[in-house]
This record gives sequence, C-alpha cells and structure tokens, in this order.
Amino acid sequence: MPATAPRSGPIPGRGGVCVLQVNGVGITFGGLVALDSVSLEVRPQALFSVIGPNGSGKTTLFNIISGFYRPRAGQVLFDGNDITGLPPHLVARRGIYRTFQNINLFANMTVLENVLAGQHCQAETRLARCILPFGRNWAFEQQEARECLDRVGLHTRASELAGNLSYGDQRRLEIARVLAGKPQLILLDEPTAGLNPSEKTGASKLIQGLVKDLKITVVLVEHDMSVVMGISEEILVLNHGRVIARGSTEEVRNHPQVIEAYLGRRKGA
Ligand code: ADP
Ligand code: MG
Repeated sequence: MPATAPRSGPIPGRGGVCVLQVNGVGITFGGLVALDSVSLEVRPQALFSVIGPNGSGKTTLFNIISGFYRPRAGQVLFDGNDITGLPPHLVARRGIYRTFQNINLFANMTVLENVLAGQHCQAETRLARCILPFGRNWAFEQQEARECLDRVGLHTRASELAGNLSYGDQRRLEIARVLAGKPQLILLDEPTAGLNPSEKTGASKLIQGLVKDLKITVVLVEHDMSVVMGISEEILVLNHGRVIARGSTEEVRNHPQVIEAYLGRRKGA
C-alpha cells in the first residue's frame, strides 16, 4: 500500500454515504457556550470548509472531533462508528489526523524525523513489526516518510532542522507529518495563516491534491476567503458557536446572515 493511501472505504451514514457526522454537538466553558447544537455531514473525499469569525468555535469543533475535548451534548460518528469522547491517540488510530492553528513541530529535530514521528500513531502496525522475526523495517519507514515529504515538496530538505524552515515550509511539513499516519480524514486548522500570496496558492494546490490524488477527505478551517471560495466543495458557517449557514460557495457567499456576521450588517443595509 502506498504511504498515503486511505485505510478503508466509506460506509453508509445516516444521511446517505458520509464519512464524518457531527450530530448536535455542544460544549460550554464556564458560562460561555462555545458550540451549541452543531451538526455537519462530510462525504468521503470531500473538501469541506468550516468558516466563521474569530471565536465562533471552529477550533473547538476540531478539538471535539479529534478527541481533545469531550462535548457535553451530541455525537461524533466516523465511518458510522461513534467516536465521541475517544482520546486523541485512538481517534488518530481510526484514521483522523489534524494540524494545529499554531505550528506545532519539533523544531530541533530534522524534517525527516518530524515525519517519522507522525508514523507513531500507527501503533498496531509498529507492534506487528516488532514481533515479526525481522523486527522493524527502518528502511521501509524512512521510504514512506520520504514519500510524504515528496508529496508536500520538501524531499530535498529532509536533513534540515524543522525550525530552520520558512513558515510556509513548516506548514507543509505539518501536512507531511499527518500524511505519515495514513489518514482517511484530515482536519486542517488555518493552514495558510501567515503565508504570503504565492505560498497560499501553493498550499491550496497541495490541499486539493490530498483529495484528488490521495483520496483523503479534508475538513478545512480557514480565514482567507479567497482560499476557501477557491477550493471548497461545501462550506459550514459558524457564528457564536451556532451554525448560521451551510452549502456551496455561492450559497454561502450570498447568505445574508453570513454577510452580517462578517461585515456586521445585512446585505444592502
Ligand atoms: P475559533 O477557532 O473559531 O476562533 P475557538 O473555537 O478557538 O474559536 O473558540 C471559541 C470560543 O470558545 C472562544 O470564546 C474561546 O475563548 C472559547 N474556548 C475555546 N477553548 C477554550 C478552553 N479550553 N477554555 C475556555 N474557553 C475556551
Ligand atoms: Mg481557531
């Protein structure tokens, strides 16, 4: 199997064939309702975006899907299985990987070592390799890690320290690291934050390639509207922890509540 192939096919979800379902999720912090009755359905190999003003609950939603937060209400289903409340490492083992809004690399390790660290979540595979008579296959693991670097265009930088890469390349390395886990679904939290326009274009192409070439489902949280409108198939809009719109780029772009949330006034007002 190639290093970046998805693990398994989709199974029918409640609302048709979908790989990820979030049903009525809610969470509060102290008195603050960060998410309230949020639901979404993501089809396999979709490029699905979640947008909304700062503090609207986008990262919190990712934290719930990836097991960092346990919701006080609602469910998360992946491949039809309830994964609500599973700890992050078990969510990852199911095939859901994420990046973080703030870059989160091992700055003093090499680029290649960072990707090898991303293979860690494949605990079953490693255990199987450990008990095989030939032990672990370092050459194989390195080859897979290099394929991930190749995918993001960093194959010539493998032996450099991650901390020495440009901001744009560090964001690419984060994607290579999640690819090392052989994800079926990737959650990307503001992957183009801080990038210049040409880096953003490159990042958009890279993200589209994950879906088209590697058949991975991508859920994207993104601030840059030109990126979102350029690559998303479906968009969900949050405001103050609630879903205010969902649909195609056109539907969302012209939605009065979305315009109001972003511009603070109704269209035409
Ligand atoms: P976004 O990613 O859309 O900018 P967040 O999901 O980070 O927004 O935050 C949504 C709201 O929840 C914010 O008001 C934020 O302060 C609050 N919040 C998120 N995580 C925590 C936490 N661990 N403790 C307290 N408040 C939190
Ligand atoms: Mg956020």
